[in-house]
Formats: sequence, C-alpha cells, structure tokens
Amino acid sequence: MPSASDLPEIVMPPAVDGRPLIGIVGSGIAGLRAAKAILKCEADARIVIFGDEDHRTYNRPGLTKKRYPLSDALDMTIAEDVKVHGAENDALTWRLGTRVQAADLRDRILRLSTGETFEYDGLVIASGVRPRTSVWGDGECELHTHRTLRGLGDARYIHHRLQASDKVTLVGAGFVACELASLAREYGCEVIMLEALRRGPFESVLGERVSMALGRWLVQHGITFLTGDSAKELLCDVRASNPVPSSGPPGRSLFIEAIGSVPNVEWLHGNGLDLSDGVRVDEYMRVSPWPNVFAAGDVARYPDPWTAGNLTRMEFWKNAIDTGDLAGRSLASALGYGSVTSRIGYFPSMSTEVLGLRIQIAGNPKMSDSMETVCGDLDQPDQGVVVAYLREGAMVGAAYMDKGARFNSAYIKLLKSLRGR
Ligand SMILES: Cc1cc2nc3c(=O)[nH]c(=O)nc-3n(C[C@H](O)[C@H](O)[C@H](O)COP(=O)(O)OP(=O)(O)OC[C@H]3O[C@@H](n4cnc5c(N)ncnc54)[C@H](O)[C@@H]3O)c2cc1C
Repeated sequence: MPSASDLPEIVMPPAVDGRPLIGIVGSGIAGLRAAKAILKCEADARIVIFGDEDHRTYNRPGLTKKRYPLSDALDMTIAEDVKVHGAENDALTWRLGTRVQAADLRDRILRLSTGETFEYDGLVIASGVRPRTSVWGDGECELHTHRTLRGLGDARYIHHRLQASDKVTLVGAGFVACELASLAREYGCEVIMLEALRRGPFESVLGERVSMALGRWLVQHGITFLTGDSAKELLCDVRASNPVPSSGPPGRSLFIEAIGSVPNVEWLHGNGLDLSDGVRVDEYMRVSPWPNVFAAGDVARYPDPWTAGNLTRMEFWKNAIDTGDLAGRSLASALGYGSVTSRIGYFPSMSTEVLGLRIQIAGNPKMSDSMETVCGDLDQPDQGVVVAYLREGAMVGAAYMDKGARFNSAYIKLLKSLRGR
C-alpha cells in the first residue's frame, strides 16, 4: 500500500458538509445489511458501497436452488434488488464494477481499481469469499481445468451448460456441490461426484455416520458418488481426457469444482491485521485496533458465543445478515449515532435441499463428541430423521432430514432446548 502522498488525486474528498463518509467494501448481503442498519440509526452519514460485481445485491443462495428459465433475463430472474429505505437522497451511493485494490487503515484511505482514492470516516469490510480451486492441481494432473460457482456470471454459464450437457462431474461434496448435483439431475444430466478427502457429503459439519448415510442416499438416487482413491483417480482421468475449454464451443460434459472457499482479504494486506482466516473481529464486529473499522459476513472471523468465544467464520446467508446488521449498528454507534450496540448473539442455523431432501442444521454439530438418532432411521432420510449432537452429554447441535414434515415438531422441540442452553 503506498503512502497517502503517493496516491493519485483524491476524487472523493472527505465530508465537507460535516457528514461522516462511510465506505462499505462488498455489495453482497452483509454490505447491504450494514448500510441499512446505519441508515436505520438515523446516522446523518453518506455511505458508499463498493462492489466489484456489476450487480446490486442479489440472492446468492438462489443461484443453485432451483431451475431457472433459460433466457437472457436470467439476471432479472435471479437478482433480488433489495430496496434501502431512506436512501433516495444522497445517503447511499453504489459504486459497482469497482474493486477496492488496497486500504490504508491508518490514514483511512481506500484505493480503487479506477485509480481513484476514497477517504472514509468509517469502514465496513464485507468482501466475502471466492471459490477455492484445485486441491489436486499441484502437478499431479497437468490439464488443470475447472469451473466454479460463486456469482451471477458463473450461474448463468452453468445453467446454460447444464441444459446442453449429458454428464456433469462435480468435485467436492459440500453444500454447493450437493445443490449443483441436484440441479444437474433436474436438467436430466448424469452426475458423478468426487470426494477424495471425506467419506460423504457435509462430513465436516454432520460427522461421519450421517455423512455416510447421505452418501448412500445419493447413490440410491442415481448419483455416482466416489470417495478416496477412486475419486482421486477418476479426477485425474476426467481432467486429462475431458478438459473444459475456457473458450470455444463447449462439449456435452461439464466439470465443476466446489471444494470450499478463500476469504477476499488481499486488499487489506499491509495493515498488520490477522488475516489468517478472514478478518478477525471482536464481539461487536470491530477490527482491532481501528475504532471505526468493522467486518461482517463470510469474511469475518468472530468470537463464537456458541463455543465459549472460539474464533469462527460462517459462510451462511443468515449469518451475513445478522453480522452485517451488527457491524452497521456498531459503526453508527462508534460515529455517535444510535445507542450502544449489543454483542454478537448468533444462533447458527441453515437449511438446504438436495434431490428434494430438506436438510436442516442448527447449533454447532462440529463441536460434538457423540450423536444420537432421536427419531427415524438414518438409512431412510427421506422418511424423516432427527439427530442430536452432544458434547459431554449436553446437546450442542441438531440436524433434521426429511422429504416431508414428519418429525417437524420433534425438531422444533430440540431447537427450543438448544436455544435455551
Ligand atoms: C451457490 C451458493 C449457494 C449458497 N447457498 C446457501 C444456502 O442455501 N444457505 C445459506 O445459508 N448460505 C448459502 N450460501 C452462502 C451465502 O450465499 C453467503 O453466506 C452470503 O452470500 C455471504 O454474503 P457476504 O455479503 O458476506 O459475501 P458475498 O455475497 O460474497 O459478497 C461479497 C461481495 O464483495 C465483492 N468483493 C470482494 N472483494 C472486493 C473488493 N476488494 N472490492 C469490491 N468488492 C469486492 C464480491 O465480489 C462480492 O460481490 C451459498 C453460496 C453460494 C455461492
């Protein structure tokens, strides 16, 4: 990061009208919710949201959820252009297609891809994550080809290709991979899933037994699910024999990697921050030692009230909403608006749907040392199965899989005791 004197002309000067200037880096849901929270505190501030995508905030989980009609209006179909009340005046400005290249937190300056600089009074870091690529791409398979899914452009490409493809090979067995498998089946494709590091889907979250049961269930429903060495071998074969061209006419076989993500923090280098896994924040989402800098969403690593303050980073929509709200309120409070904010009090929960099977997870199953099936049979998840996750005999998480709502009330009961822990 150059010093302030090396920077080009300051195109956006600090607030001359006395109103504080707030920069939000990231136009995803966390950034938007932070902006909304600031406006709700009636902060007489000017907010600028910088986003390197060309779109305003949209429903990212929707990219894999169901089959969208294929048309040039795919953007319109998927995009959820959330309105911000009170922003009709100059309280909120969107700078889309604009990447923040670097930040100097000491001098409160952002350096933009346009060559401009932006001087802020308050900053929210909401730059999210990007897909990790090629676990095995370190020379073992020379033809390194992959497609990943994060944004609207990726989704447009994948939906179009799925329509024209017969076969999809997916690397990974996490949420995005499983949802893509489901989507590909809806398009009538043969699906091969390769998971070399784990024994089944969501293993790192739901544990081995549930994960293996889900793996068997996928196979029963027509998906070729390979793990371990067979996954690794096939991965090399697929890459060598069937590379996905980055340009030129696409074939009838699609190859997608969904093997996790990497936080977007490079633009913060040089500020002495702990960026080892996202941006470290305190329970108010503040980035120490800077009093007016906060982070939220997928990029923020915070002290988890669920694990006695262990640092955690969550990549879930609701978490981005909750932490975005909190970061916005905390920043408004730091600038003298609104009341003193509360600490993070997040109740982790999420749901996904794979081939019609709804999977709901709450609490923190990762922390458990044992699990028990409360209702149903793990080998028949579509008939309904509820699982409790325990640590030293106390419940720390729960999961519910069902195609209908057979054990809904049992799951709600578990959630109540989890919340009241
Ligand atoms: C395909 C898919 C399906 C999902 N399904 C679910 C689900 O079912 N349930 C669930 O709970 N969660 C789901 N998620 C996760 C959920 O979408 C994320 O948790 C949420 O979008 C995080 O929001 P965010 O604002 O923190 O980050 P993002 O949505 O990633 O937004 C960050 C934005 O900042 C931009 N940016 C990054 N760096 C810069 C920079 N230097 N300058 C300017 N802009 C920058 C990025 O391009 C991006 O637009 C899914 C995610 C994906 C990809």
